[in-house]
Amino acid sequence: MESSYYLKELSKCVRCGSCKAFCPTYDEDPSEATGARGRLALLWGLSSGQLKPSPILNDRVFSCTLCGACSGLCPTGIDIKEIIYHGRNLLKKTDKKRRYLRLITSFSTRRPKLSFRLLSITQHILFPYLMRKGLLPFKPELSEHHSKDSLQVYTVSKKKGRVALFSGCTTNLLFPYLKESLINVLQTLGYETVLPVGEVCCGAPLRTLGIEEEAIELAKKNLGIFSRLNVEAILSLCPTCTLSIKSEYPKLIGKGMDKVTDISSFFIDKLDPSRFRSVSSDIKSAVYHDPCHLKYGLGIEKEPREIIRNTGVNLLETEENRCCGFAGTFSISNKDLSEKLLEKCVREYMKIEPEMIITTCPGCMIQLSKKAKNKPVLHLIEVIEEALLPQS
Ligand code: SF4
Ligand code: SF4
Repeated sequence: MESSYYLKELSKCVRCGSCKAFCPTYDEDPSEATGARGRLALLWGLSSGQLKPSPILNDRVFSCTLCGACSGLCPTGIDIKEIIYHGRNLLKKTDKKRRYLRLITSFSTRRPKLSFRLLSITQHILFPYLMRKGLLPFKPELSEHHSKDSLQVYTVSKKKGRVALFSGCTTNLLFPYLKESLINVLQTLGYETVLPVGEVCCGAPLRTLGIEEEAIELAKKNLGIFSRLNVEAILSLCPTCTLSIKSEYPKLIGKGMDKVTDISSFFIDKLDPSRFRSVSSDIKSAVYHDPCHLKYGLGIEKEPREIIRNTGVNLLETEENRCCGFAGTFSISNKDLSEKLLEKCVREYMKIEPEMIITTCPGCMIQLSKKAKNKPVLHLIEVIEEALLPQS
Protein backbone atom coordinates (compact mmCIF):
# COMPACT_ATOMS: atom_id res chain seq x y z
CA MET A 1 0.00 0.00 0.00
CA GLU A 2 1.12 3.56 -0.71
CA SER A 3 2.77 5.59 2.05
CA SER A 4 0.06 8.25 1.58
CA TYR A 5 -2.48 5.64 2.74
CA TYR A 6 -0.62 5.17 6.03
CA LEU A 7 -0.21 8.90 6.50
CA LYS A 8 -3.96 9.29 6.06
CA GLU A 9 -4.54 6.48 8.55
CA LEU A 10 -2.14 8.03 11.05
CA SER A 11 -3.84 11.41 10.72
CA LYS A 12 -7.01 9.81 12.14
CA CYS A 13 -5.33 9.53 15.57
CA VAL A 14 -7.02 11.84 18.10
CA ARG A 15 -4.41 10.95 20.77
CA CYS A 16 -7.04 9.61 23.18
CA GLY A 17 -4.65 6.94 24.52
CA SER A 18 -7.21 4.09 24.53
CA CYS A 19 -4.69 1.90 22.69
CA LYS A 20 -2.33 1.99 25.68
CA ALA A 21 -4.80 0.27 28.02
CA PHE A 22 -3.41 -3.28 27.63
CA CYS A 23 -0.08 -2.56 25.96
CA PRO A 24 2.42 -4.88 27.71
CA THR A 25 5.50 -2.83 26.83
CA TYR A 26 3.88 0.37 28.15
CA ASP A 27 2.88 -1.49 31.30
CA GLU A 28 6.53 -2.47 31.80
CA ASP A 29 7.99 0.93 30.89
CA PRO A 30 5.33 3.65 31.10
CA SER A 31 7.03 6.18 28.88
CA GLU A 32 5.04 7.49 25.92
CA ALA A 33 7.27 6.06 23.18
CA THR A 34 7.01 2.49 24.50
CA GLY A 35 3.23 2.51 24.16
CA ALA A 36 0.99 2.18 21.14
CA ARG A 37 0.08 5.91 20.93
CA GLY A 38 3.70 7.04 21.17
CA ARG A 39 4.85 4.60 18.50
CA LEU A 40 2.17 5.89 16.18
CA ALA A 41 3.27 9.46 16.85
CA LEU A 42 6.84 8.49 15.92
CA LEU A 43 5.60 6.82 12.75
CA TRP A 44 3.55 9.90 11.88
CA GLY A 45 6.73 11.98 12.17
CA LEU A 46 8.63 9.46 10.07
CA SER A 47 5.98 9.13 7.35
CA SER A 48 5.50 12.89 7.07
CA GLY A 49 9.26 13.51 6.88
CA GLN A 50 9.39 15.46 10.15
CA LEU A 51 11.50 12.79 11.86
CA LYS A 52 14.46 10.85 10.55
CA PRO A 53 15.31 7.26 11.50
CA SER A 54 17.69 7.03 14.46
CA PRO A 55 18.77 4.15 16.71
CA ILE A 56 16.41 5.37 19.48
CA LEU A 57 13.43 5.82 17.17
CA ASN A 58 14.07 2.42 15.60
CA ASP A 59 14.29 0.77 19.01
CA ARG A 60 10.93 2.23 20.03
CA VAL A 61 9.23 0.99 16.88
CA PHE A 62 10.87 -2.43 17.14
CA SER A 63 10.12 -2.75 20.86
CA CYS A 64 6.45 -3.48 20.10
CA THR A 65 5.69 -7.18 20.59
CA LEU A 66 2.97 -7.01 17.89
CA CYS A 67 0.75 -8.75 20.44
CA GLY A 68 -2.35 -6.98 19.11
CA ALA A 69 -3.66 -5.98 22.55
CA CYS A 70 -4.27 -2.54 21.05
CA SER A 71 -6.25 -3.99 18.13
CA GLY A 72 -9.87 -2.95 18.08
CA LEU A 73 -9.41 -0.41 20.88
CA CYS A 74 -8.98 2.61 18.63
CA PRO A 75 -12.21 4.64 18.37
CA THR A 76 -11.21 5.94 14.94
CA GLY A 77 -10.49 2.45 13.64
CA ILE A 78 -6.73 2.67 13.07
CA ASP A 79 -5.19 -0.74 12.38
CA ILE A 80 -2.22 -0.23 14.68
CA LYS A 81 -0.39 -3.48 13.91
CA GLU A 82 -0.52 -2.86 10.16
CA ILE A 83 0.85 0.65 10.71
CA ILE A 84 3.70 -0.75 12.78
CA TYR A 85 4.51 -3.35 10.08
CA HIS A 86 4.63 -0.50 7.59
CA GLY A 87 6.87 1.57 9.86
CA ARG A 88 9.29 -1.32 10.24
CA ASN A 89 9.38 -1.73 6.48
CA LEU A 90 10.32 1.96 6.18
CA LEU A 91 13.03 1.57 8.81
CA LYS A 92 14.62 -1.69 7.73
CA LYS A 93 17.43 -0.13 5.67
CA THR A 94 18.60 2.16 8.46
CA ASP A 95 18.04 -0.29 11.29
CA LYS A 96 21.53 -1.69 11.77
CA LYS A 97 20.83 -3.33 15.14
CA ARG A 98 18.67 -6.07 13.68
CA ARG A 99 20.51 -6.52 10.37
CA TYR A 100 21.90 -9.98 11.25
CA LEU A 101 18.49 -11.14 12.44
CA ARG A 102 17.11 -9.98 9.08
CA LEU A 103 19.81 -11.84 7.19
CA ILE A 104 19.27 -15.08 9.14
CA THR A 105 15.47 -14.87 8.97
CA SER A 106 15.47 -14.07 5.28
CA PHE A 107 17.95 -16.84 4.48
CA SER A 108 16.17 -19.48 6.57
CA THR A 109 12.75 -18.71 5.10
CA ARG A 110 14.04 -18.64 1.51
CA ARG A 111 16.29 -21.72 1.88
CA PRO A 112 14.60 -23.85 4.58
CA LYS A 113 16.18 -27.17 3.56
CA LEU A 114 19.71 -25.80 3.42
CA SER A 115 19.13 -23.95 6.71
CA PHE A 116 17.94 -27.17 8.31
CA ARG A 117 21.05 -28.99 7.11
CA LEU A 118 23.28 -26.21 8.46
CA LEU A 119 21.41 -26.31 11.75
CA SER A 120 21.82 -30.09 11.95
CA ILE A 121 25.58 -29.74 11.45
CA THR A 122 26.02 -26.89 13.94
CA GLN A 123 23.41 -27.93 16.53
CA HIS A 124 25.95 -29.32 19.04
CA ILE A 125 27.61 -25.92 19.29
CA LEU A 126 24.68 -23.63 18.53
CA PHE A 127 22.02 -25.03 20.88
CA PRO A 128 24.25 -25.07 24.02
CA TYR A 129 25.30 -21.50 23.13
CA LEU A 130 21.67 -20.35 22.84
CA MET A 131 20.87 -22.12 26.11
CA ARG A 132 23.75 -20.36 27.88
CA LYS A 133 22.45 -17.03 26.52
CA GLY A 134 18.99 -17.83 27.93
CA LEU A 135 17.39 -17.87 24.46
CA LEU A 136 16.49 -21.55 24.45
CA PRO A 137 15.15 -23.40 27.51
CA PHE A 138 16.07 -26.88 26.28
CA LYS A 139 18.09 -28.66 23.61
CA PRO A 140 15.66 -29.44 20.79
CA GLU A 141 15.62 -32.77 18.98
CA LEU A 142 15.75 -31.91 15.30
CA SER A 143 13.30 -33.95 13.27
CA GLU A 144 14.41 -35.95 10.24
CA HIS A 145 10.89 -35.49 8.90
CA HIS A 146 11.30 -31.75 8.67
CA SER A 147 11.21 -31.55 4.89
CA LYS A 148 8.67 -33.36 2.74
CA ASP A 149 9.26 -34.09 -0.90
CA SER A 150 5.90 -35.66 -1.60
CA LEU A 151 2.33 -35.19 -0.50
CA GLN A 152 1.66 -37.00 2.78
CA VAL A 153 -1.80 -38.40 3.44
CA TYR A 154 -2.75 -39.99 6.78
CA THR A 155 -5.78 -42.09 5.97
CA VAL A 156 -8.53 -43.43 8.25
CA SER A 157 -10.90 -46.37 7.88
CA LYS A 158 -14.24 -44.68 8.67
CA LYS A 159 -13.71 -41.23 7.20
CA LYS A 160 -15.69 -38.35 8.70
CA GLY A 161 -13.79 -35.61 6.95
CA ARG A 162 -10.53 -34.43 5.41
CA VAL A 163 -8.29 -31.67 6.70
CA ALA A 164 -4.88 -30.24 5.85
CA LEU A 165 -2.11 -29.23 8.21
CA PHE A 166 -0.19 -25.99 8.02
CA SER A 167 2.81 -27.19 10.01
CA GLY A 168 4.61 -23.89 10.67
CA CYS A 169 8.37 -23.41 11.17
CA THR A 170 8.57 -23.59 14.97
CA THR A 171 6.54 -26.80 15.13
CA ASN A 172 8.46 -28.36 12.25
CA LEU A 173 11.82 -27.52 13.68
CA LEU A 174 11.50 -27.66 17.45
CA PHE A 175 8.27 -29.54 18.23
CA PRO A 176 7.68 -32.13 15.48
CA TYR A 177 6.00 -34.42 18.03
CA LEU A 178 3.12 -31.93 18.29
CA LYS A 179 2.35 -32.49 14.64
CA GLU A 180 2.30 -36.23 15.28
CA SER A 181 -0.05 -35.72 18.22
CA LEU A 182 -2.40 -33.67 16.07
CA ILE A 183 -2.43 -36.32 13.34
CA ASN A 184 -3.11 -39.04 15.95
CA VAL A 185 -6.03 -37.08 17.41
CA LEU A 186 -7.46 -36.39 13.96
CA GLN A 187 -7.21 -40.08 13.04
CA THR A 188 -8.94 -41.08 16.28
CA LEU A 189 -11.76 -38.70 15.42
CA GLY A 190 -11.99 -40.04 11.86
CA TYR A 191 -10.29 -37.26 9.92
CA GLU A 192 -7.96 -37.91 7.03
CA THR A 193 -5.01 -35.52 7.20
CA VAL A 194 -3.07 -34.07 4.29
CA LEU A 195 0.37 -32.44 4.41
CA PRO A 196 1.00 -30.79 1.06
CA VAL A 197 4.41 -30.31 -0.55
CA GLY A 198 5.93 -26.85 -0.69
CA GLU A 199 4.57 -25.17 2.45
CA VAL A 200 6.76 -22.18 3.32
CA CYS A 201 6.99 -19.92 6.37
CA CYS A 202 3.75 -17.97 6.93
CA GLY A 203 5.80 -14.76 6.61
CA ALA A 204 5.12 -13.33 10.07
CA PRO A 205 8.80 -13.39 11.18
CA LEU A 206 9.74 -11.44 8.05
CA ARG A 207 7.03 -8.82 8.57
CA THR A 208 8.12 -8.49 12.20
CA LEU A 209 11.52 -7.37 10.92
CA GLY A 210 10.11 -5.15 8.19
CA ILE A 211 10.87 -7.47 5.25
CA GLU A 212 7.45 -7.07 3.62
CA GLU A 213 8.44 -7.91 0.03
CA GLU A 214 9.68 -11.38 0.98
CA ALA A 215 6.65 -11.98 3.22
CA ILE A 216 4.44 -11.21 0.22
CA GLU A 217 6.25 -13.82 -1.90
CA LEU A 218 5.81 -16.49 0.78
CA ALA A 219 2.16 -15.61 1.35
CA LYS A 220 1.44 -16.03 -2.36
CA LYS A 221 3.20 -19.42 -2.39
CA ASN A 222 1.20 -20.70 0.58
CA LEU A 223 -2.04 -19.40 -0.87
CA GLY A 224 -1.32 -21.19 -4.17
CA ILE A 225 -0.55 -24.49 -2.44
CA PHE A 226 -3.27 -24.61 0.21
CA SER A 227 -6.17 -23.11 -1.74
CA ARG A 228 -5.96 -25.97 -4.25
CA LEU A 229 -6.60 -28.62 -1.58
CA ASN A 230 -9.97 -30.26 -1.28
CA VAL A 231 -10.30 -30.09 2.52
CA GLU A 232 -12.85 -28.80 4.97
CA ALA A 233 -10.29 -27.06 7.20
CA ILE A 234 -6.60 -26.18 7.38
CA LEU A 235 -5.36 -26.64 10.92
CA SER A 236 -2.39 -24.96 12.52
CA LEU A 237 -0.83 -25.53 15.93
CA CYS A 238 0.54 -21.99 15.97
CA PRO A 239 -1.73 -18.96 16.49
CA THR A 240 0.73 -16.65 14.74
CA CYS A 241 0.56 -18.74 11.55
CA THR A 242 -3.24 -18.94 11.86
CA LEU A 243 -3.67 -15.20 12.37
CA SER A 244 -1.22 -14.37 9.66
CA ILE A 245 -2.78 -16.60 6.99
CA LYS A 246 -6.38 -15.97 7.92
CA SER A 247 -6.47 -12.30 8.85
CA GLU A 248 -3.23 -10.67 7.67
CA TYR A 249 -2.84 -12.18 4.18
CA PRO A 250 -5.92 -10.25 2.95
CA LYS A 251 -4.15 -7.00 3.88
CA LEU A 252 -0.81 -8.23 2.53
CA ILE A 253 -1.81 -9.90 -0.76
CA GLY A 254 -5.53 -9.17 -1.04
CA LYS A 255 -6.67 -12.70 -0.16
CA GLY A 256 -6.53 -14.96 2.88
CA MET A 257 -7.65 -18.50 3.61
CA ASP A 258 -10.87 -18.67 5.58
CA LYS A 259 -10.45 -22.42 6.10
CA VAL A 260 -7.39 -21.89 8.31
CA THR A 261 -8.34 -22.46 11.90
CA ASP A 262 -6.74 -23.03 15.27
CA ILE A 263 -7.18 -26.47 16.79
CA SER A 264 -9.43 -25.42 19.69
CA SER A 265 -12.04 -23.89 17.34
CA PHE A 266 -11.95 -27.01 15.19
CA PHE A 267 -12.21 -29.48 18.07
CA ILE A 268 -14.64 -27.64 20.35
CA ASP A 269 -17.78 -29.35 18.99
CA LYS A 270 -16.00 -32.70 18.49
CA LEU A 271 -14.56 -33.20 21.95
CA ASP A 272 -17.27 -33.32 24.59
CA PRO A 273 -16.43 -34.94 27.97
CA SER A 274 -17.59 -38.40 26.78
CA ARG A 275 -14.62 -38.53 24.38
CA PHE A 276 -12.11 -38.55 27.23
CA ARG A 277 -10.88 -41.12 29.74
CA SER A 278 -11.95 -40.65 33.33
CA VAL A 279 -8.97 -39.22 35.17
CA SER A 280 -10.61 -38.92 38.57
CA SER A 281 -7.84 -40.90 40.28
CA ASP A 282 -5.16 -38.58 39.01
CA ILE A 283 -6.65 -35.12 38.52
CA LYS A 284 -3.99 -32.60 37.62
CA SER A 285 -4.31 -28.85 38.05
CA ALA A 286 -3.27 -26.48 35.29
CA VAL A 287 -3.33 -22.88 34.27
CA TYR A 288 -4.03 -21.94 30.66
CA HIS A 289 -1.78 -19.36 29.04
CA ASP A 290 -3.51 -17.27 26.35
CA PRO A 291 -1.23 -16.72 23.34
CA CYS A 292 -1.71 -13.06 22.35
CA HIS A 293 -2.37 -13.82 18.69
CA LEU A 294 -5.12 -16.27 19.62
CA LYS A 295 -6.71 -14.05 22.26
CA TYR A 296 -6.41 -10.59 20.73
CA GLY A 297 -5.94 -11.51 17.09
CA LEU A 298 -8.55 -14.24 16.69
CA GLY A 299 -10.70 -13.59 19.77
CA ILE A 300 -10.37 -17.18 21.04
CA GLU A 301 -10.25 -17.63 24.82
CA LYS A 302 -13.17 -19.87 25.81
CA GLU A 303 -12.62 -22.82 23.46
CA PRO A 304 -9.23 -24.02 24.76
CA ARG A 305 -10.44 -23.66 28.36
CA GLU A 306 -13.59 -25.67 27.70
CA ILE A 307 -11.61 -28.47 26.04
CA ILE A 308 -9.12 -28.55 28.93
CA ARG A 309 -11.98 -28.86 31.44
CA ASN A 310 -13.58 -31.58 29.32
CA THR A 311 -10.37 -33.64 29.51
CA GLY A 312 -10.80 -33.73 33.30
CA VAL A 313 -7.97 -31.36 34.16
CA ASN A 314 -8.66 -29.00 37.07
CA LEU A 315 -8.28 -25.65 35.33
CA LEU A 316 -7.26 -22.84 37.65
CA GLU A 317 -7.74 -19.18 36.72
CA THR A 318 -5.45 -16.24 37.46
CA GLU A 319 -6.45 -12.62 37.96
CA GLU A 320 -4.31 -11.65 34.99
CA ASN A 321 -3.19 -13.51 31.89
CA ARG A 322 -0.25 -11.58 30.47
CA CYS A 323 1.87 -11.58 27.33
CA CYS A 324 4.79 -13.97 27.92
CA GLY A 325 7.16 -11.70 25.97
CA PHE A 326 8.23 -14.21 23.33
CA ALA A 327 6.97 -12.57 20.14
CA GLY A 328 9.42 -14.44 17.90
CA THR A 329 12.58 -12.45 17.18
CA PHE A 330 11.48 -9.87 19.78
CA SER A 331 12.79 -12.23 22.49
CA ILE A 332 16.24 -11.96 20.87
CA SER A 333 16.32 -8.30 19.84
CA ASN A 334 14.64 -7.03 23.05
CA LYS A 335 15.96 -9.65 25.43
CA ASP A 336 15.75 -7.57 28.64
CA LEU A 337 12.20 -6.40 28.01
CA SER A 338 11.19 -9.91 26.93
CA GLU A 339 12.57 -11.35 30.19
CA LYS A 340 10.74 -8.76 32.30
CA LEU A 341 7.44 -9.57 30.59
CA LEU A 342 8.09 -13.29 31.11
CA GLU A 343 8.92 -12.78 34.77
CA LYS A 344 5.61 -10.97 35.44
CA CYS A 345 3.62 -13.50 33.45
CA VAL A 346 5.03 -16.58 35.20
CA ARG A 347 4.93 -14.93 38.65
CA GLU A 348 1.17 -14.54 38.22
CA TYR A 349 0.80 -18.23 37.38
CA MET A 350 2.97 -19.42 40.26
CA LYS A 351 0.69 -17.64 42.75
CA ILE A 352 -2.01 -20.26 42.12
CA GLU A 353 0.46 -23.18 42.12
CA PRO A 354 -0.66 -25.15 39.07
CA GLU A 355 0.94 -28.52 38.37
CA MET A 356 1.36 -27.61 34.72
CA ILE A 357 0.94 -24.80 32.22
CA ILE A 358 -1.06 -25.45 29.08
CA THR A 359 -0.99 -23.22 26.04
CA THR A 360 -1.74 -23.40 22.34
CA CYS A 361 1.42 -21.84 20.89
CA PRO A 362 4.87 -23.41 20.32
CA GLY A 363 6.52 -19.99 20.73
CA CYS A 364 4.88 -19.44 24.13
CA MET A 365 6.01 -22.97 25.10
CA ILE A 366 9.65 -22.02 24.46
CA GLN A 367 9.33 -18.80 26.41
CA LEU A 368 7.37 -20.14 29.40
CA SER A 369 9.72 -23.14 29.73
CA LYS A 370 12.60 -20.72 30.38
CA LYS A 371 11.06 -19.53 33.65
CA ALA A 372 8.62 -22.22 34.80
CA LYS A 373 11.47 -24.68 35.15
CA ASN A 374 9.84 -27.09 37.59
CA LYS A 375 6.46 -27.16 35.77
CA PRO A 376 5.74 -28.92 32.51
CA VAL A 377 4.61 -26.56 29.76
CA LEU A 378 2.33 -28.44 27.38
CA HIS A 379 0.57 -27.71 24.14
CA LEU A 380 -3.19 -28.28 24.24
CA ILE A 381 -2.87 -31.01 21.60
CA GLU A 382 -0.67 -33.07 23.96
CA VAL A 383 -3.31 -32.83 26.68
CA ILE A 384 -6.04 -33.87 24.25
CA GLU A 385 -4.01 -36.80 22.89
CA GLU A 386 -3.19 -38.06 26.39
CA ALA A 387 -6.83 -37.99 27.56
CA LEU A 388 -8.63 -39.04 24.38
CA LEU A 389 -10.34 -42.43 24.33
CA PRO A 390 -9.42 -44.68 21.40
CA GLN A 391 -11.80 -44.80 18.45
CA SER A 392 -14.91 -46.82 19.29
S1 SF4 B 1 0.87 -4.55 19.47
FE1 SF4 B 1 1.03 -4.90 21.70
S2 SF4 B 1 3.08 -4.12 22.30
FE2 SF4 B 1 2.58 -3.30 20.23
S3 SF4 B 1 1.70 -1.28 20.59
FE3 SF4 B 1 -0.02 -2.74 20.44
S4 SF4 B 1 -0.40 -3.39 22.58
FE4 SF4 B 1 1.63 -2.41 22.55
S1 SF4 C 1 -6.69 4.62 20.34
FE1 SF4 C 1 -6.49 5.33 18.19
S2 SF4 C 1 -6.99 7.52 18.29
FE2 SF4 C 1 -6.59 6.88 20.40
S3 SF4 C 1 -4.37 7.31 20.70
FE3 SF4 C 1 -4.53 5.17 20.05
S4 SF4 C 1 -4.29 5.26 17.81
FE4 SF4 C 1 -4.76 7.35 18.49
